[in-house]
Amino acid sequence: MTRDGALDPVGRIEELRAAIRHHDALYYEADAPEMPDAEYDLLVRELVALEADHPDLITPDSPTQRPGGRATTTFDPVEHRVPMMSLDNAFTADEVAAWVERTRRRIVELGAEREVGLVAELKIDGLAVSIRYEDGVLVQAATRGDGRIGEDVTANVRTIASIPATLPKGAPSVLEVRGEVYLSISAFEELNRAQIEAGERTYVNPRNTAAGSLRQKDAGVTASRRLSFWSYQVGEMVGGPSLVHHHEIFEFLSSMGFPVNPEMRVLAGLDAAVSHCADWQARRHDLDYEIDGVVLKVDDLALQRELGATTRAPRWAIAYKFPPEERTTRLLGIEVSIGRTGRATPYARLEPVFVGGSTVEFATLHNADQVAAKDVRPGDVVIVRKAGDVIPEVVGPVLSERPKGLRRWKFPTNCPVCGVALSRPEGEADARCPNGSCPARVAGAIEHFASRGAMDIEGLGEQRVQQLCELGLVGDIADLYVLDPERLAALPKFAERSVAKLLDQIETSKDRPLANLLVGLNIRHLAGAGATALATHFGHLDRIESASEDELAAVEGVGPVIAGSVHHWFADPDNRALIAKLRAAGLNFTGPATSDLPQVLEGMNIVVTGTLEGFTRDSAEAAIKGRGGKSPGSVSKKTTAVVVGVGPGASKVTKAEELGVPLLDEAGFVALLETGTVPSRTGEEGEP
Ligand code: NAD
Repeated sequence: MTRDGALDPVGRIEELRAAIRHHDALYYEADAPEMPDAEYDLLVRELVALEADHPDLITPDSPTQRPGGRATTTFDPVEHRVPMMSLDNAFTADEVAAWVERTRRRIVELGAEREVGLVAELKIDGLAVSIRYEDGVLVQAATRGDGRIGEDVTANVRTIASIPATLPKGAPSVLEVRGEVYLSISAFEELNRAQIEAGERTYVNPRNTAAGSLRQKDAGVTASRRLSFWSYQVGEMVGGPSLVHHHEIFEFLSSMGFPVNPEMRVLAGLDAAVSHCADWQARRHDLDYEIDGVVLKVDDLALQRELGATTRAPRWAIAYKFPPEERTTRLLGIEVSIGRTGRATPYARLEPVFVGGSTVEFATLHNADQVAAKDVRPGDVVIVRKAGDVIPEVVGPVLSERPKGLRRWKFPTNCPVCGVALSRPEGEADARCPNGSCPARVAGAIEHFASRGAMDIEGLGEQRVQQLCELGLVGDIADLYVLDPERLAALPKFAERSVAKLLDQIETSKDRPLANLLVGLNIRHLAGAGATALATHFGHLDRIESASEDELAAVEGVGPVIAGSVHHWFADPDNRALIAKLRAAGLNFTGPATSDLPQVLEGMNIVVTGTLEGFTRDSAEAAIKGRGGKSPGSVSKKTTAVVVGVGPGASKVTKAEELGVPLLDEAGFVALLETGTVPSRTGEEGEP
């Protein structure tokens, strides 16, 4: 120990190496890591930093000196004629810039005067394989192993549909193709659905499931897993074309029949590289496969050879790693919340942890089956995931850290709020509180009524609704319209001005369109699109109330499930009484019936992308459909115009531009709705 109590560097280095080896074995050999990558990366970073301070302590077998992993004895060994390397990492734009600068300097030292041209590829989160073809026939496939010796997984790789068994005529006599075997997110989710149905434990993430699926003794299991492949590199090659740039490898591999990732880009320089990395960090969830970063590579193959490699990784490439979306923390408890429709949702109370850009204290556990499949228990250390805008979730427990004697968590049999027995109909994933007057359901329903997609009553959020309910000031949504200003003003923390403002908001809400009112009624399965369809078709709440189930189901955009649910809702005497109260309060029950609108968009296909100020997605669609037009989800030759709001889908805009489809802003959209003609773009007026 040193004087400040820390381990001396020798001790700490030994400790880190042992821990890294332990986690390497779990990750590369057992395909069952027990630590999120971000936490493993911290161990490696600490070791790298310590070794940089104490270069005399570096040993050839240190995990920093060779690619992680080892060939197991489950498979025959395969010697890589060209080593399969790891990649050095950069975690910030500054680290990317430092690598570019280092590379530039090295090139000058080498006496070469070429500019560093870069290519960027997505860093696919799968496992690397090398596939060898001789005279155009697949003869061997191997995992990376320790980079020198890998495992023979030929039989397994043969089962992957997108990997060709033979190459086209004219292929090199020897070609070793390298790339990433991965599991798409949809294939992963499908697999987990099957696990849940079978009552089995769910898989933790696509990368380890891909690795586990490929490294199976029985290739039949691999075949059942829908693995995919992206190729990105050539190992040994005899008799192939002479390539000058890295990006030409992609063209060549594609001509040989291998899938290559369409997102590879040749970049102009450092600035372009940095913004490209940031761009993918923001868009990583747009893909159906997981990526954990962007790989930057020197494009000039001669320069790549001159730059060479360390024992672990090439000097001509760097992986920019995205910030972590998974961390571990302690599960303090599992609670069940009751939603507005009575749905009982289990959620985790966690020791706060910073992940995916914010501090997370609560995470969803979805439903009873998911908790059972994950088998997380209060007291466990758990992996928490927060990806993009998605609600944080608990992925699973870290079993090796489970304290002794933890009991399996049991889903409550009764509603934790009102105490009535929960029910779970056959074939449904959710348990529900059946009690319509359960305080949690009542509060949830009022909150939903006031929400933006419904009556949009500002100032009536979760806490305010709780307060009004607890004091008995409201018992249903109609009570909002008979609130007593004096009693409101007497409430703690409720200034006179806020009372007036809230009452004003409630008053204004009486005139909201019929579709919003329908959404606000909290009818199961009925959301924006269905409500708009009903409102425009029937034009009045009374007509919806008296319509038969068949009449409801006949409306376009309303299926039998919604129709059944709406009919059932209006058949309930309590709900009819509620409607009577709303009528007495003077709420708007009428909507623009389809027949009232001029059918100016007949035969037109209008695609809407991004957020508009004056329309929600549903109301924009309703405005189009109500005027006889169609609003498909994608751009094609048949598209009349694309309405572009804030944050549009890049691919839709690009496609429209490619096809010469006019792009409209919101003002242009409004003009189109009114006139039925596509206005010419601002600035282009007067052009021939
Ligand atoms: P790496 O994953 O950081 O980089 C090298 C690998 O990237 C290559 O082998 C290849 O498989 C892959 N790759 C994906 N797309 C690529 C592309 N376009 N071009 C080139 N390569 C591409 O390095 P590594 O040595 O394989 O593994 C380290 C990673 O594994 C880290 O993310 C680490 O967190 C994780 N790991 C985690 C644990 C754990 O316990 N959680 C243990 C060991 C390793």
